[in-house]
Amino acid sequence: MADTIYDVAILGGGPAGYTAAIRGAEYGLKVALIDASPKLGGTCLHVGCIPTKTLLFNAEIWDHLKHADEYGITGIGTPSLDWAAVLKRKNAIVTRHVKGLEFLMKKHKIAVIAGFGRLTGSARDGVHTVDVDKSGQKSQVKAKNVILATGSQAKMLPGLKADDRILTNIEILDLPEPPKSLAIIGAGAVGVEFGSIFRSFGAEVTILEFLPRLVPVEDEEISKELARLFRKRGIEINTGARVEKVERTEKGVKISFNDANGKPQVKEAEKVLVAVGRAPQTADIGIKKTRIEMNGASVKVNETLETAEPGIYAVGDIVAGLPQLAHSGSMSGMVVMAKIAGRAFRPVRRSRIPGCTYTEPQIGSVGMTEAQANEQGYDVKVGTFPFAGNSKATIVDGHDGFVKIVSDAKYGEILGVHIIGPQATELIAEAVAVMELEGTVE
Ligand SMILES: Cc1cc2nc3c(=O)[nH]c(=O)nc-3n(C[C@H](O)[C@H](O)[C@H](O)COP(=O)(O)OP(=O)(O)OC[C@H]3O[C@@H](n4cnc5c(N)ncnc54)[C@H](O)[C@@H]3O)c2cc1C
Repeated sequence: MADTIYDVAILGGGPAGYTAAIRGAEYGLKVALIDASPKLGGTCLHVGCIPTKTLLFNAEIWDHLKHADEYGITGIGTPSLDWAAVLKRKNAIVTRHVKGLEFLMKKHKIAVIAGFGRLTGSARDGVHTVDVDKSGQKSQVKAKNVILATGSQAKMLPGLKADDRILTNIEILDLPEPPKSLAIIGAGAVGVEFGSIFRSFGAEVTILEFLPRLVPVEDEEISKELARLFRKRGIEINTGARVEKVERTEKGVKISFNDANGKPQVKEAEKVLVAVGRAPQTADIGIKKTRIEMNGASVKVNETLETAEPGIYAVGDIVAGLPQLAHSGSMSGMVVMAKIAGRAFRPVRRSRIPGCTYTEPQIGSVGMTEAQANEQGYDVKVGTFPFAGNSKATIVDGHDGFVKIVSDAKYGEILGVHIIGPQATELIAEAVAVMELEGTVE
């Protein structure tokens, strides 16, 4: 292995890393993909996008079944939830796609190397060396370029450790049964998605968010609508809540927090999910031995995702200024490979990366919020249309929510699109395409 000089060595086989690997191979580059985990796929496939969306699909079916008679479906008796079967299906889907990835790596002749990779410093004679450690067994990989794609992990509150009651996105995906009550700290995409899913499965859900609104990165009207619809579904929402302490009790957990008025409150629940953001995994990958510049734990890159160390790139959740989303990572990986292979590419534009939040109802958004457009000095025009006026939405039982288009009054340029409602995460792709093609509101 040490004698081979690869065109590119990639550290991390999540969506950012494996997409880069495949694209590089398609361009005829010699690629090595190093992953610390025995199974490729990263957070997204094992403990992120895929298992959560699987549970969400179950939750949707379950929600519909609760009203089966309304759809004219009778004679099925009282439906019951076989949680073990729900988990089995989720795990089978993950396994199937891990196998799919393994097949793609073989098909594209990508060298998959198991082990934890670390940079050793700057390139020598144009060749970088990466140390690889597989349970103490050490080796080196040499490559002309290196892509860092080491992803992120859930942040924990100080003094807490995940266990069977204090959960992160990992533990919550394998609970032996849905909790009767679930407190969620953090109302970003991860927090609200799990809140939505477990509410469907019957849990009493309480959300505690430090900021004044749910999904704080979204347009303010989207946050308000989500809060309204979550409350309608019986989800308790505490925004402006500062969590002071989380303790294990005899049967569950106790969370002490100060509410929006600064008044001390206590919430008891069977489980608590800590969803307060994701920390880039960059602490122990040899960055200090290089000239790579950091923004906290995130890696600073230029327009072509190259770091300050020539020949070393970063993609995915570790990149400063890019959203921590699978498609953002995949696209970045493809851009880097095009750059390395000398192919045509367009840099990733932050304003064209859609955000998708898979709650019930869903949220899809791209570009500027109304407030951001105003801050940037545009002559802002807003158009909003409710799903209540759309028969297709009523047919799928999703007449709540709306589509909001933020545009510049002068030329009709679309600055942002914000959708909350049925299939919002699919609909948003249309907005992205129109914006990419510089279509106007007309
Ligand atoms: C609950 C949840 C739901 C989500 N749902 C969605 C969704 O619906 N849509 C969406 O777009 N995004 C979603 N995300 C975000 C998405 O999972 C991440 O943005 C995505 O996984 C990031 O990809 P990545 O390749 O950068 O890193 P990761 O997927 O985290 O992969 C990093 C890989 O690097 C490996 N690694 C780490 N350090 C080293 C090292 N030193 N050497 C070798 N290998 C190393 C790890 O083993 C891992 O395989 C979700 C996240 C969570 C937590």
